[in-house]
Amino acid sequence: MSKKVIIIGAGPGGLASAILLAAAGVRVKIVERLPLVGGRTSSIEAEGFKFDLGPTFFLYPRVLEEIFAAAGTSLRTEVEMVRLDPQYRIQFGAGGKLDCTSDITAMEKQISALSPPDAPGFRCFLDENRAKLAAMEPCLESPFLGWQDLVQMRLLKMLPMLRPHQSVDTYLKRFFKDERVRLAFCFQSKYLGMSPFRCPSLFSILSFLEYEYGVFHPIGGCAAVTAAMARVAERLGVEICLNEPVEEILFTGRRAVGVRTATSTHRADAVVVNADFARAMEKLVPDQLRRRWTNRKLATKKYSCSTFMMYLGVEGTFDLPHHTIHIAKEYAENLDDIENKHVLSDDPSFYVQNACVTDPTLAPRGQSALYVLAPVTHQHPNVDWSQERPRFRQLMLNQIKKAGYDLDPARIRYERVITPADWDTRYEIYRGATFNLAHTLDQMLHLRPHNRFEDLDGVYLVGGGTHPGSGLPVIFESARISSKLLLDDLGVNNGGADAPISRSAAVPSRSGNAITEAIQTFARLLRPAPVPSDDSAKPHPEP
Ligand SMILES: Cc1cc2nc3c(=O)[nH]c(=O)nc-3n(C[C@H](O)[C@H](O)[C@H](O)COP(=O)(O)OP(=O)(O)OC[C@H]3O[C@@H](n4cnc5c(N)ncnc54)[C@H](O)[C@@H]3O)c2cc1C
Repeated sequence: MSKKVIIIGAGPGGLASAILLAAAGVRVKIVERLPLVGGRTSSIEAEGFKFDLGPTFFLYPRVLEEIFAAAGTSLRTEVEMVRLDPQYRIQFGAGGKLDCTSDITAMEKQISALSPPDAPGFRCFLDENRAKLAAMEPCLESPFLGWQDLVQMRLLKMLPMLRPHQSVDTYLKRFFKDERVRLAFCFQSKYLGMSPFRCPSLFSILSFLEYEYGVFHPIGGCAAVTAAMARVAERLGVEICLNEPVEEILFTGRRAVGVRTATSTHRADAVVVNADFARAMEKLVPDQLRRRWTNRKLATKKYSCSTFMMYLGVEGTFDLPHHTIHIAKEYAENLDDIENKHVLSDDPSFYVQNACVTDPTLAPRGQSALYVLAPVTHQHPNVDWSQERPRFRQLMLNQIKKAGYDLDPARIRYERVITPADWDTRYEIYRGATFNLAHTLDQMLHLRPHNRFEDLDGVYLVGGGTHPGSGLPVIFESARISSKLLLDDLGVNNGGADAPISRSAAVPSRSGNAITEAIQTFARLLRPAPVPSDDSAKPHPEP
C-alpha cells in the first residue's frame, strides 16, 4: 500500500511538494480553501483583464526546472517565458532613473550617468556575489534542523563573506557611493518584506540573481506557472480538492493523522502545511499541542510588511516599461513608517506593472492591465483600513503619475483594491504580513519554523513561513527540503526523483571542543536583535 499525504493549500509550496511526493510514488491529496489554485500566486480575471494577484517577478527558474524534470516534463514545455530586457526601470524620487539590464556595458553606462565613480563597482559586485551564492547554496538547500547543521554547513568559514550583522545597504557601500545606485541593488529586500537598512547583507544575492540569471515574465503571468504546476501534479495522480477549507488537523497524541474540513475527514500518514504558517497554527492546531510556536510566541515574532494593491483594467495603452519601481525621495522615512512607526506615508514608494507591453494576453486589444503595489505596514491598530482605503487609493492614483501614469479615472474599466485587512481576513494571512515572518537573523535558518515541524510529529511545512524563506525560488526549495525529509521519514525510496539535498557539504566531524566553540560563536552572532516594542500583539478579526 503506498503512503498517503495530505497537503493543506495549493500555493506554490504545496503544488511543488505535491509534484515531488507524487513523483516518488506517494498518494497525494491537496485540500485548498479557495476555488482556485496558486494561493498568493494566483490571478484575478475579470472583464477580459488578467492580473497576477501577488508575484510578478519570476526569478531563478532553475529550482522549478528541476522539480518539473522530476515529473518528467520541463518548465519551458509547460509555460512560455520571456526574459525581460531591461528587466525593470527604477525611478528615484530624489531624481534620476535606471533602466536596469544585465548587459554589463550598458548597465555601467547607466550607472555612470547617475554617478560616474560607481560604474566600475557593478562588475566587482557581480563577481563577489557570484562567489557568495556558490558558498551559500548548500545552506539554502539543507533543512537546518538544529545547531549541528550550522556547524556542518561550514557556515563558520563563510562568515567573513556573509557579514551577518551588516545590512545590505551598508555592504553595498563597498561598491557604490551614490545612495540611489545602492538602492538599485538593495530594494530587492522588499521581496522579503524588509528594509534594506535592516535586511542582512547576505541577501545582496537577490539583486545579483536578477542580473546573473534574469527577470522573467511567464506568458499569462506568474499564475500561469502555478496553473501549470497543478496540471503536472494532476497528471501524476494528485487529487486537488478546491473550495474546501481545512478546519483542523487531526492528531493521535502529537502525531498528525489527517485533516477535517466542513464536509469530510481525510486520513493520511503525514500532513504538509502550505497555508500561512502563523495563521495555520492559530486556527488548525490546538495551542496546548505546540511547544515552541504557541499563540503567545507567535504574537511576539517579527512579521514582514504588507502591501496595498490596485488592479486596474484601463482603456488605452502605455508606452512605459513592463516593471517600474518608484523609490520615494525620503525612502528611509518611508521604510520607518512601514516597519517601525506603523503609519501610512504621505509619499510612499510604489511599483507599477504594465505587463501588456510584453504580454497581450492579459487585456483586451487596445487596453491595459495595470498592477500597482505599495509596501505598507502589516495590520496594526494605527491604521484602520475601513477608513483609509479610499484616501490611500486616491493617493496612489496621484503617486503613479510620478512614473508617467497620468491616468484619467474615466479610462478605468475595471478596478479592484486589496488592503492589508483583506490579506488578513480574506486570504488568511497572519496580520496581513504578505511575506510571512520577517527574515531577520533571529528568524532565519534553524530559528525559522523547521521544514520537519519541530512541535508535532508527522507535520511538515512548505512555503514562505519555513526555511529558507519567502519568494518563489526559495519556496520551491522549501518544497524540495520538506519532501525529502518526509520521504525519508515514510521510508519511501525517493529513487532520485527530487534533486539531492546537499548534505555533501558536511565537513568531517570536528572535535567536541571545536564544535562547542563554533556553536557558541553562532549563538552570539545570531542572538536576537532587540524587538521593537510597538508591534501590536492584538488579536485580529476573523472573516
Ligand atoms: C503582493 C505580493 C507580491 C509578491 N511578489 C513576488 C515576486 O514578484 N516574486 C516572488 O518570487 N515572490 C513574490 N511574492 C512572495 C511569494 O512568492 C508568494 O506570496 C507565494 O505565493 C507564497 O507561496 P506559499 O506557497 O508560501 O503560500 P501561498 O501562495 O499563500 O499558498 C498557501 C495556500 O494555502 C491555502 N490555505 C490557507 N489556509 C487554508 C486552509 N485552512 N485550508 C485549505 N487551504 C488553505 C491558501 O488559500 C493558499 O492557496 C509576492 C507576494 C505577494 C503577496
